[in-house]
Amino acid sequence: MRNIGNRRNMGNKGNIGNTTSLQYLLQLITTNFNKLLPITIIFFVIITSCTRENNKPGETLIQLSYEEDITPSYYEIIEMYKKLAKHYPQAKLLEYGKTDAGKPLHLFVISSNKDFDPVSIRKDNKIIVLINNGIHPGEPCGIDASLQFADDILRNKNGMAKYLENTVICIIPVYNVGGCLNRSAWHRTGQTSPKECGYRGNAKNLDLNRDFVKMDTENAKAFATIFRKWKPDVFLDTHTTNGSEHQYTITLIPVQPDYYPKVLGNFFRNEMVPALYEKMAEGDYEMIPYVSYRNRSVKKGIYLDVQTPRFSTGYASLFNTLGFMTENHVYKDFPDRVKSAYNFIKALVEFTSENGDEISEKRKLANRELLTQSEFALDFTVDTNRFDTIIFKGYEAEIGTSPVTGLERFGFNKNKAFETKIPFYQYYYPTKIIKKPEMYIIPQAWSEVIDRIKINSIEMFPLKKDTILEVEVYYFDDHENSVRAYNGHHLHRNIKLHPEMQKVQFFEGDYVILLNQEGNKYIVELLEPESHDSFFRWNFFDPCLESREYFSSYGFEENALKYLDEHPKFKAEFEKKKKEDKEFASNHRAQLGYIYYNTEWADKRHNRYPVARINKKMKLPLGK
Ligand SMILES: [Zn+2]
Repeated sequence: MRNIGNRRNMGNKGNIGNTTSLQYLLQLITTNFNKLLPITIIFFVIITSCTRENNKPGETLIQLSYEEDITPSYYEIIEMYKKLAKHYPQAKLLEYGKTDAGKPLHLFVISSNKDFDPVSIRKDNKIIVLINNGIHPGEPCGIDASLQFADDILRNKNGMAKYLENTVICIIPVYNVGGCLNRSAWHRTGQTSPKECGYRGNAKNLDLNRDFVKMDTENAKAFATIFRKWKPDVFLDTHTTNGSEHQYTITLIPVQPDYYPKVLGNFFRNEMVPALYEKMAEGDYEMIPYVSYRNRSVKKGIYLDVQTPRFSTGYASLFNTLGFMTENHVYKDFPDRVKSAYNFIKALVEFTSENGDEISEKRKLANRELLTQSEFALDFTVDTNRFDTIIFKGYEAEIGTSPVTGLERFGFNKNKAFETKIPFYQYYYPTKIIKKPEMYIIPQAWSEVIDRIKINSIEMFPLKKDTILEVEVYYFDDHENSVRAYNGHHLHRNIKLHPEMQKVQFFEGDYVILLNQEGNKYIVELLEPESHDSFFRWNFFDPCLESREYFSSYGFEENALKYLDEHPKFKAEFEKKKKEDKEFASNHRAQLGYIYYNTEWADKRHNRYPVARINKKMKLPLGK
């Protein structure tokens, strides 16, 4: 049984080398700096050369303590990466923007020819792998595993440096900096190790793994900057899950292959993903798809978990990046979780390096396909008629007795292990398809949306003069809102809308987005209101749902009468309705409403989505 009392004091052990005597000497020199200046210089020369000599190739430079059930603190993590970057010229620790905690987002880059410019790296036909860690700092296996991997590949352990010949590795040491700084033994109730860890929410108490498109945090803005600058070919986000009980230490959620253009999706589904399962099976930690099941029975089958663009991998798929999420199993010991995450990182980098040309080629074809693709799927549903069969090693589920309450509860019997074949449902079909327009126009008033699109390096052109254009607009007929706040929003769902052609006034500075760019999928997903993670669904356009003009049952009468007098045809329709509809005939407000909503008086902007679609090619006066 674990001793909870001891856990609270065991997390922040310093592990980065023994510097006590060195610190003493440095203090001595600092105090007598002027007198000792010449000696100081000699001392540093000796220290520097000693450091170089002591760290011969092959030696580890960092000290991790996952075997003792300890994960490093934020400061220790950054210090270790700094140490690696200082020692190895083929590594660099870069900073991007600031996170909500006020500290920068770091990116550790390993590039064998010391080129740290993503543009020239891509020109060099190198493959870029991006690994994101600590999005949920209570799930730190990837943090330790990435540090171990960086150290090992840099010191060429077992010849690993060969992967770097055609591959550049980018590691975000900790994405949720604020959550990592909020360290405690008491955050994760279902987790017994490591002894201390960070907190799920970030400094703004948001879940960063719901923030990739709405970008309410500085973390997400810095991440998008990294992502769009480095344009990774392959992406991994490391997590831990408590959603199931089974014999595996590591599970995997690859991007749903149907999210990619066919040429890339087929390669991903048929070659890359199976190869990674095979590579893992060769090592100590066999891997299984993330265990997502219904009806409490894994034996009836599991489903490929679909990650929409609010999640990291869904976001990665918008740009044809091959995305993976590892979910380590929380009920396994931390050292095993770290080692299995490490094995996966190694397998992923190895596969990427071995198949670099093919990945590069398939992504190029997919990006080209995206440019001309005229239809986009906004929603998918699992095909329950089609499945693959996989072997599953689990524990029998049963109603047992709680050792805490003595009452009945659903759980798993670890003494009853089983191995059986189960269906794996991983085929999805689109349920909502839309035709892309030639262009969208966003009035500049919606600056929050425009800023987010800009951070994602989407090309936009401001209109050079005020213009009235015939465009397609959407009117919202109905929608529901989530009652409870979800990551700071009340998402819209069950959206009903209809399109309408209309002449709309646009102004100089409003933004035109052409659908002829590599970000086409991002643009459609974010701007089509019905898509799963559209800006509309995330409440960015809520003011359009309110009416700013209205009619008063008394105040409108004079104008209503004038309108009827001046429009005899409409008046005749109005009179007819009164004759035919008794209830209408006796309802004063309904009659005024009929006149208001069916004439030019109606507020056209009410319920009208402000982003317009232009469906035919046309030349517009556009600036840069
Ligand atoms: Zn997680």
